[in-house]
Amino acid sequence: MVFRVPSVVKHESFFFSRLVNSFFYSVVTTLGGMMTQVRFLTLTLFLCSIQVASGQELDRSIENALPSLLETYRTLHANPEISYYEEKTASFMAKELRSLGFAVTERVGNYGVPNRTCYGVVAVLKNGTGPTVMVRTDLDGLPMDEKTGLPYASTVRTKNETGEEVGAMHACGHDIHMTSLLGTARMLVQLKDRWQGTLVMIGQPAEERGAGAKAMLNDGLYTRFPKPDFAVALHDNATLEAGKVGVTEGFALASVNSVDMTVRGVGGHGAYPHTTKDPVVIASEIVLALQTIVSREVSPLEPAVVTVGAIHGGTKHNIIPDEVHLQLTVRAYKEPVRRTILAAIKRIAEGIAHSAGVPGDRFPIVRIDENEFTPSTYNDPLLTSRLRTTFEAALGKDNVVTVDPVMGGEDFGRFGLDGKVPACIFWLGAVDPKKVEESAAAGTPLPSLHSSQFTPLPEPTIRTGVKAMTSAVLELMKK
Ligand SMILES: [Zn+2]
Ligand SMILES: [Zn+2]
Repeated sequence: MVFRVPSVVKHESFFFSRLVNSFFYSVVTTLGGMMTQVRFLTLTLFLCSIQVASGQELDRSIENALPSLLETYRTLHANPEISYYEEKTASFMAKELRSLGFAVTERVGNYGVPNRTCYGVVAVLKNGTGPTVMVRTDLDGLPMDEKTGLPYASTVRTKNETGEEVGAMHACGHDIHMTSLLGTARMLVQLKDRWQGTLVMIGQPAEERGAGAKAMLNDGLYTRFPKPDFAVALHDNATLEAGKVGVTEGFALASVNSVDMTVRGVGGHGAYPHTTKDPVVIASEIVLALQTIVSREVSPLEPAVVTVGAIHGGTKHNIIPDEVHLQLTVRAYKEPVRRTILAAIKRIAEGIAHSAGVPGDRFPIVRIDENEFTPSTYNDPLLTSRLRTTFEAALGKDNVVTVDPVMGGEDFGRFGLDGKVPACIFWLGAVDPKKVEESAAAGTPLPSLHSSQFTPLPEPTIRTGVKAMTSAVLELMKK
């Protein structure tokens, strides 16, 4: 079937003017009022039918592409690569995008770490004069064993940076993101006469380490390649039904800092505690006192989290150890809040050690790895509401839901350059609607992202991902 979309768009504006004319005509005319109303109705119906037809054309193209996209998804799912090792995944993405006519550059990114290659992919498709829109997917899987029992489950074993053997799983659904991006690329190439401007599609590594976006920006993502007027991404959601998308305006995801603390005491025999400075007791007091940062030092109106996720110390019942190690995650939306929390952690740790009589040269060591720091993600309100309207038109109002902000983290936020580039990441429902219903009825939570049991429902998820992202880009780059 030949249904030339560009002519539809031109016709659409032509008929809009006809519509306006006919409206005024109906005001001034003194005869044939009935006729004018009929004309108005006919034109309105005609306009609607054009929109439905172009929507149907996209639907048909997506259905045609779905079998091979699902094949791509299963291949990516079965072959995950963990952060910093996305070599094959990146070259697969590069090859696919090149075959669609994109100018592709590989290995974009610089971690600033010797011998660590950054596998960033940048694909550019120029299509006349217009805005530059960047669509991002992440590439990395997680170091964990998959326990979904799926026929295409990953059985990959690999080594991490410290040489430890680990499993690998796309437990955050970055395989869904990649497949949706490739599907979107295919649709936009097919619909080239419906948009104009420069499309930049990127594959970003090391999202799970909060390092990839920064590495790509540091390596000239916005200077060697066209700087976007808009940056868009999607992330699958482990509680939202497949077929739906979720939208959050403003702060959507939190900043993330990992903090390592070594609480040092003076070890000795468990029977003679008075001759020691017990780091187990000191660390315990620190853990509890850290909880007062959010409750007493941060405004109740500002979201913040301080979680001590790991505490390790000692070897035996009757030995007071020399050290205890704590691992913390710190989350916030606003930069001053983040700084307040980090300063308070250090002050509280040192203060408690001091009060326990630990000498100054044995105060806790607090390490904050700013290399793996992830800033918060702010969804530009204007862009987000524009996309919401687009999604509602493409997917139906019932399939677009408002999602509350979360304290999870995403380094996509970096691409917004603190508000200089309007950016928006939206949620893509990935769960079998039956499972969502069952979980609500039974009150049992669904497997979350990063769970070894996380089992997205590929077909409706990818269909919706491609449709939502293609519609978003068409809206931002429409002729
Ligand atoms: Zn993740
Ligand atoms: Zn993720």
